[in-house]
Order: sequence, then C-alpha cells, then structure tokens
Amino acid sequence: MKSCLFINGEEKVPTNTYVVYNPHTGEVIGEVADSTEEEMRTAIEAASRAFYNMKTLPSWKRADILYKAASLLEQEKEEVASIITKEASKPISAARVEVERSIQTLQFSAEEAKRIGGEYIPLDAAKGGEGRDAYTIYEPLGVIGAITPFNFPLNLTVHKVGPAIAAGNTIVVKPAEQTPYSSLKLAEILTRAGLPKGAINVVPGDGPRLGKVFLEDERIKKISFTGSPSVGKLIKSQAGLKKVTLELGSNSALYIDESVKEQLSKIVPKAVIGAFSYNGQVCISTQRIYVHQRIAQEFIDLFVKETKNLSFGDPFDEKTVVTSLINKKSQKRIMEWIDEAVNRGAKVLTGGVEIGNGIAPTVLTNVPADCKVSCQEVFGPLVIIEEVENEKDALKKMNNSEFGLNAGVFTNRLNQAIEMAHGLEVGQVFINDVPTTRFDHMPYGGVKSSGYGYEGVKYAIREMMQMKMISLNYKI
Ligand code: NAD
Repeated sequence: MKSCLFINGEEKVPTNTYVVYNPHTGEVIGEVADSTEEEMRTAIEAASRAFYNMKTLPSWKRADILYKAASLLEQEKEEVASIITKEASKPISAARVEVERSIQTLQFSAEEAKRIGGEYIPLDAAKGGEGRDAYTIYEPLGVIGAITPFNFPLNLTVHKVGPAIAAGNTIVVKPAEQTPYSSLKLAEILTRAGLPKGAINVVPGDGPRLGKVFLEDERIKKISFTGSPSVGKLIKSQAGLKKVTLELGSNSALYIDESVKEQLSKIVPKAVIGAFSYNGQVCISTQRIYVHQRIAQEFIDLFVKETKNLSFGDPFDEKTVVTSLINKKSQKRIMEWIDEAVNRGAKVLTGGVEIGNGIAPTVLTNVPADCKVSCQEVFGPLVIIEEVENEKDALKKMNNSEFGLNAGVFTNRLNQAIEMAHGLEVGQVFINDVPTTRFDHMPYGGVKSSGYGYEGVKYAIREMMQMKMISLNYKI
C-alpha cells in the first residue's frame, strides 16, 4: 500500500519506514513512516497553522465537509473494509460493520457540529446581579493529539477526528503501529471532502517516542487516547495542564438471571458473539459471565455448543468470526494466562489451544477470581462462566474488578434490573443486552481503571471545547 505519512493535506516522503504485516498471512502489506520526532513536530506545526482556518469556518461548512466525507466513505466502503481486514485481521463482515459505523459517526459529527450551544444564566439570582444577561459559548481548543489502538482502526479514529472537526479544532493522529492504513485513508477522504490543509495529519510510528512529543509540545491542547490502561495511566500522569480523555480496557461482566430461562435460546448466541467477535479483541468484550445457579448448567451447555459452531479461519471468508490474533505476542500471553488458570483448578469446557496465529474460542469455569483471565483484560477469544446464588452475589462479583466500562444484565424482573443498574460500578449498563454493545452517538466512558472522560460524538465535542461565560450589563 502506498500512503504512508500525511501532513498538511498531502502525502510526504518519510525519513524512515517500517514494514506493516498482515497478521493472518504474515505477508507484507506495505511500508509506512516510522516518523521521527521532527516529522511529528512538522505535523503539529501544520495543525497549529490550520487552526485559524478551522475556527473561523462556520459550523454549517464544517458539517458539510463531514457529510461529504461520509458519502465518499460510503462509495469506497468495500475498499476500506478490505484495508481493515488486511491490517487488523478483522473478519470482513465485521470490517464492513466498522465502515458502516464510521459513516454514521461522521454523520453524527456533522449533525452535532450545528448544535453546539451554550446556556442562559440568570445573573439576577445573585443579589447585585440584576440588570445583566449572561450566557455561555463553546470555543475550540486548538490542536488535538489523538492516539488510537489497533482494534477499530477506522471507527475509533473517526470518534476523535469527527468531533474535533465538528468543534473547529485541528488534529494530529498517531495510529497504532499495526494498523496505520485506515487512518491514512480517512485523512485522504476528509481532504477530498474539502477539509482545509493541515486540519488533519496522520503520523504513524512508535507510540512511546511520538507520544512524548505530544506530551511535551505546548501546541497540543488535548490528548485523546484510546488504548491500554497502562499507557493511559502514563499519559495522564505526564499530561500536566493538558486536557486528556482516556478510553481504556476492561474485563466486562454479564449477569444472566433465572427469570430469562425461557429466552436462553435467544440470549446465548448474543453472549457468544459478545465474547468472541473479532477474537474478543474488543474493549467491551464479554469476558465474565455470571449465571443464576438454577439455570447455570443449561446456559453452559447451550453456550459451549454455540461456541463450537463458530467459524475459525481466513478473515476474508464471509463466514469467519474468529481468526488470527493481532500478533504472536498476544497469542503467547493469552496461552500463558490459560495455563495459569488451569494450573489453579480451572476447567476448560472448549478451546484452550492455539490454531494458526490465533486461539480456539475458549470457555473456562471454576476460575479463581484472582487469576489473570478473571481479573485482567484478556483481549482474546476467552470467556469465563461462573454460577451465582442470586443477583446480589452476581453484583458483588461483577464489581470485584479494577475496571468499569460496560456491564450487561439479562432479567425479566424490573426491580432487579434497576437495582443492578444503580449498583454496577461501570460507565454504561445494558439491560437485556450484552456488555459488548455500543452505539456511536451514546455517551461512552469508563470508571476505575477503564478511563477518564467521555466519547460518543456529542460528549467528545464538549470535551474538545472550552466553555466561556459572557455577561452583558445593560444598566451601566
Ligand atoms: P496500546 O495501549 O498498546 O496502544 C494504543 C496506542 O498507544 C498505539 O497507537 C500505541 O502506539 C500508543 N502508545 C503505546 N505506548 C505509548 C506511550 N508510552 N505513549 C503514548 N502512546 C503510546 O493498545 P492496543 O493494543 O493498540 O489496543 C488495545 C487496548 O485498547 C485494550 O486495552 C483495549 O481495551 C483498549 N481499547 C479501549 C477502547 C475504549 O473505547 N475504551 C476501545 C478500543 C480499545
């Protein structure tokens, strides 16, 4: 593939390059910029210069550019889906869904661009405040530094770029080393859609080295990061007065109450997909399932049967759900974690073995709560199932986690649903859905070690803007 470093509206010839491989076949996809610190600073300079053009562009024009980009992406969706499949080894059907979602995220950004409004504040509520009108406006921050992960290389970049443009900011994207091509394609599409030069720049390369430039450069006003909790914490600790948004990992939990016994045949396939779609390499993958003891065996039997039916193989095959992991390192780590659990008494109901560059979908029970597969984020095709006495027991175990992103509860009992929704220590609760659920306009953010701040277009826009209060004294 050709595109390799995108600065100031055009492709640049980089000083250094590295090779990007297809994780499934091991074939070379292309060479991409292993950007230097100087190249990163050039991109920041371009974004900084473009800021004046962006902030003076009326919101309807920013919206038009985003709508146009959405329609260009629509026209090229098959090509873009195949880029995602090649670089991320994402099954083609899931890659198409990612492109569809990215189109929507751009459209939501366009809609929200025209709705950025403040509020009226009656200053006469305070003694002496009479005779004044006050209101708030929202102003763009300047240059946003975006750092993105490999697992949704297009849509998670759009979740930063769309709101940044809607708000009138400019942006420099540092994509994941494994998956730079989706972001480069996005920059090219936005430029064709009429985005001013320099408003988006894509600088691939080493995370720690280029992330340091973001942290040190005064022109970067905000860092918007999606990735692992360890890197997120590091960024937060070094960000000083820069704003940060951190979208991090989790080990999401799901409770299945006995009251849904009659609906298990509908629930199980959803739970299986929640656990294994894209090999569980999803920040909200269903990793821990707690089932009421009265229906536990029936649920487990159905779940294991459904899991064994999942199609494993070539990501370009329409039927494939599970395929190669992003790299050998990830495969090795997950196998070590499975071994640890098994050595401590866990039972493998299916899977637990390597296939090619992946791992067969794995279901474990009897897992001690302090095993890594239980208390850490697996980020692989693995789920643990445990029976619980009742919803209180489930709630305690679901909350026994360092993380708190999404959680799900299947129940037909209204009071139970509400009580659990209030009791769960997470950012988002899904009643009668798996935790592996996200719609791109909803607020989305983690608590505990899962994050800081919010995404979801409208909410991301707020976090990329500064509120200003204006008071008018009409009785001098
Ligand atoms: P990662 O943390 O290894 O890398 C993410 C990005 O950070 C990459 O671009 C990488 O180059 C960069 N990076 C690495 N070290 C850095 C440093 N010291 N300073 C600055 N940048 C640095 O994560 P990954 O393996 O690409 O993605 C998987 C992780 O992302 C999982 O933990 C997953 O849960 C999380 N994730 C979270 C969400 C969410 O919305 N909450 C969504 C997707 C993925």
